[in-house]
Amino acid sequence: MSSQVARVEQLREQMVRAAQAILKSGAISRSGHGNMSVRIPGTDTMLLTSVSNLEHLSVDQLPLVTLGGRVVDGELDPTSAEIVHMHGVVYGKNTGMGAVIHTHAPYTTTFAVANRPIECWYEGLARFDLTDPVAVARYAPRGSPESVSYIADVMTERSRAVLLQNHGVLTFEHDLMSAVRVLVLLEEAAELGLRASLIGQPTLIPQAAIEYTQRRAQEFAERGQVTAHTPMEDHLH
Ligand SMILES: [Zn+2]
Repeated sequence: MSSQVARVEQLREQMVRAAQAILKSGAISRSGHGNMSVRIPGTDTMLLTSVSNLEHLSVDQLPLVTLGGRVVDGELDPTSAEIVHMHGVVYGKNTGMGAVIHTHAPYTTTFAVANRPIECWYEGLARFDLTDPVAVARYAPRGSPESVSYIADVMTERSRAVLLQNHGVLTFEHDLMSAVRVLVLLEEAAELGLRASLIGQPTLIPQAAIEYTQRRAQEFAERGQVTAHTPMEDHLH
């Protein structure tokens, strides 16, 4: 087996594990609807789910298609063919991205239905530099040219997620498990934001505090594991 073929097989297995992680997190609607793609590094091809439900995803349901939607290997079911460009637009617009996930995560989709961005009111978003408001792309049918252009309109270089009005959410990152992390953090933030609005309004973390949060996380990460032999001044402060 060539190393490229082996790499593609590894990515397929990773997608199955990612689907299970998403289901476990609850960042998915009760129907289990969702789709995801992983770009094959250094190519204009991606593995794309050929089912619209992540519950029983298996490695033989992940055809290889070009970013433009031509099937290279395997078969793409009609429902998944509808959403090829919803994934392709992300890779086209933000060329550093390696994976895209789409679900109807309930709390996040609540904001999409209300046409309200999700902002940095939760420390989890601050730590992982998801500090820009997550914008809402106007509604049009999934994967349609209009919908795709609305997604492109609201994406910036720093975007890691887009809310799809009246529909759901897209998250994307350099690698698949990081895209899962963005999805789960966003769903947590959306749930908290919604609950906070019942008793007041979510309060935003000020920019200086965001920078402090990130700097502190970085400093602890650089110090590494704390053990009995770690000098006292490097213990928790
Ligand atoms: Zn959808």
